[in-house]
Amino acid sequence: KRSSPAQTEFYQAVEEILNSLEPLLEKNQRYQQQAIIQRIVEPERQIMFRVPWVDDQGNIQVNKGYRVEFNSALGPYKGGLRFHPSVNAGIMKFLGFEQIFKNALTELPIGGAKGGANFNPKGRSDAEIMRFCQSFMNELYRHIGARCDVPAGDIGVGAREIGYMFGQYKRLTGQYEGVLTGKSLLWGGSLARKEATGYGAVYFANYMLEERGDNLQGKRCLVSGAGNVAIYAMEKLYQLGATPISCSDSSGTLYHESGIDLKLIKRLKEGRRCDLVEYLNTYPEAVHTPVADYPSDGHTVWRYQADAAFPCATQNELTLKDAETLLENGCHLVTEGANMPSTNDAVNAFLNAGIAYGPSKAANAGGVATSQLEMAQNASMQTWTFEQVDQRLKQIMKNIFIAANETAREFDCEGNLVLGANIAGFRRVADAMIEQGVV
Ligand code: NDP
Repeated sequence: KRSSPAQTEFYQAVEEILNSLEPLLEKNQRYQQQAIIQRIVEPERQIMFRVPWVDDQGNIQVNKGYRVEFNSALGPYKGGLRFHPSVNAGIMKFLGFEQIFKNALTELPIGGAKGGANFNPKGRSDAEIMRFCQSFMNELYRHIGARCDVPAGDIGVGAREIGYMFGQYKRLTGQYEGVLTGKSLLWGGSLARKEATGYGAVYFANYMLEERGDNLQGKRCLVSGAGNVAIYAMEKLYQLGATPISCSDSSGTLYHESGIDLKLIKRLKEGRRCDLVEYLNTYPEAVHTPVADYPSDGHTVWRYQADAAFPCATQNELTLKDAETLLENGCHLVTEGANMPSTNDAVNAFLNAGIAYGPSKAANAGGVATSQLEMAQNASMQTWTFEQVDQRLKQIMKNIFIAANETAREFDCEGNLVLGANIAGFRRVADAMIEQGVV
């Protein structure tokens, strides 16, 4: 920490993993003998670059671009690109580090990486987004490739941005290859990729409940976020008989007691890309709380009564006080669609309460798993049906749940899926690193 004091989120992620690994490291000396911890916390490569572009007024803008290629023990680097003003080296490293273990849990041959830029797409025209994406790819293209590093989307990067980046990659290299996932269905994308992270998180939640003799039917659910993950989590919740009663965006939180109108949310957020407050034009009885009115110790979205919570927006959006309020209000299931949405003390509160808690690296792995299925389709020049991909996704989520649950049991921590997922993921990567020698 002393050598890089600003990497708060990265240290938070490392601390969480190291705490869970203690019983494994005590039991098995070879990981320490091979200096696996010292090696695994250091990215194999970090690329930082200038992204200059011209806005619609003719002004030159400059952003910071990143790609952290963290670990390739299990396969080519894989992980999303995030365009958000909060992006910095510490956030890229935390996301890349988490990605290593998440990808290992899918049991697919993919290493861990993350990238992005501190670019704010809000309020930018389509032409500005295109010029930014092209400039970003002007540097990134030399570091990626279908067999070495395959980026995907994340916050602020959807099918539109992937399209502009793919076009520029093709122009620069002359190669039409599966170098990015999350592509349009017209030219190499996979059916069910868009839905995969949200659907996968809800499948995972249902497996956790089934283990406890329960299911999602009839459950009232708080969801945060209103982007790709949140929207398809809400869609699957409705399909499984549950009711999402909230969502949120960077402007505020929306609460609709009788259930969120998902078609309207899709129109507002996927179509017009506007603020959630506009929902009130159609449903004046819903409640919208602007960010300025959030409690000082947390977030309005977690202060409503519900059976289950699905944080699907961003990191550290669920504090200890939020966790305590959820528990007091009877919430008995928390499943993370976003990456590291709960602070470490919030996680401990869930674990101590013994509720069903699905940590992000297990619960939201459906997105990257389906990205790998997109790579497999591209490589074999095939297209699978929605049902084929969805069936595989469901099976992968089930396998991740079983791996995390059985590993927790193996270490006498029944139900602690944080420990189970961290040890199961780490063991695969560490064993591969040992077999590949000190490189
Ligand atoms: P999107 O950009 O599609 O949506 C993000 C949503 O969260 C938006 O509604 C956005 O608000 C809101 N949001 C983002 N940052 C903040 C913030 N700092 N404060 C408040 N609200 C915020 O991203 P995704 O849905 O793809 O990603 C959401 C989370 O899921 C992230 O943690 C991501 O890393 C994780 N994830 C995504 C995967 C994927 O396949 N897409 C895979 C695995 C994890 P607004 O609409 O105002 O911008």
